[in-house]
Amino acid sequence: MSLDAAWALDWTHRAAVMITENRAELTELDRAIGDADHGDNLDRGMRAVVTKLDAAQKAGNLPATPGGVLKVVATTLMATVGGAGGPLLGTAFLRAARSSDASAWGTENLVRALEEATSGLEARGHAGDKTMADAWRPATVAAREAAEIGEDEVGVLSAAARAAADGARDTEPLQARRGRASFLGERSCGHRDPGAQSSALIFQAALDAARARSLEPIMVVEQA
Ligand code: ADP
Ligand code: MG
Repeated sequence: MSLDAAWALDWTHRAAVMITENRAELTELDRAIGDADHGDNLDRGMRAVVTKLDAAQKAGNLPATPGGVLKVVATTLMATVGGAGGPLLGTAFLRAARSSDASAWGTENLVRALEEATSGLEARGHAGDKTMADAWRPATVAAREAAEIGEDEVGVLSAAARAAADGARDTEPLQARRGRASFLGERSCGHRDPGAQSSALIFQAALDAARARSLEPIMVVEQA
């Protein structure tokens, strides 16, 4: 099984649903250490992404590669989401999109895409600063380790999703050093970072889409 454009499309749709379902919770996290808009921002952005991809599907010009799909995600998030979160996530997706023009990604393409995305994000701050990088960096490291011991795409994304969720949880005691939450200084301690939490959901959606793909019946080629 490799990760093709249909996987990237399914990932996008699942991520949009998860963000909608968790919109209020993400906004509450942002109320504690920001300006209470992260869930609404991302929900608006992901709905715009889905609208754009649905229109492309109707017009018969869906992107044919995972990179092509992720480029639509990136540019739409950048165009529709104000604040820090959307453009930063957009940058991560754009770097992932540009990492490969293959029609389907194996584990090496996948890990490289994550490495590119995370280094794009970290141009603005590193893991440990209490931002979305605290989900992306450990997820990327875990993905690389899983690929190196021979895990398949589902195994790699499973390791990444677990590490992203742990990374988001582990932002709770940290003091914010980037973005709006850093204005709070020590008062930011004791709250989970909203961007790390939404990123963990996005990783979970990528895993769910890969699992669904791996369960699809394999086409049996009839022998002559
Ligand atoms: P805003 O802070 O402009 O209101 P959002 O609420 O949508 O934007 O997003 C806030 C999230 O953006 C934070 O929880 C954090 O994860 C992320 N963020 C902010 N600044 C940075 C940064 N410099 N690097 C990485 N992520 C950041
Ligand atoms: Mg905010």
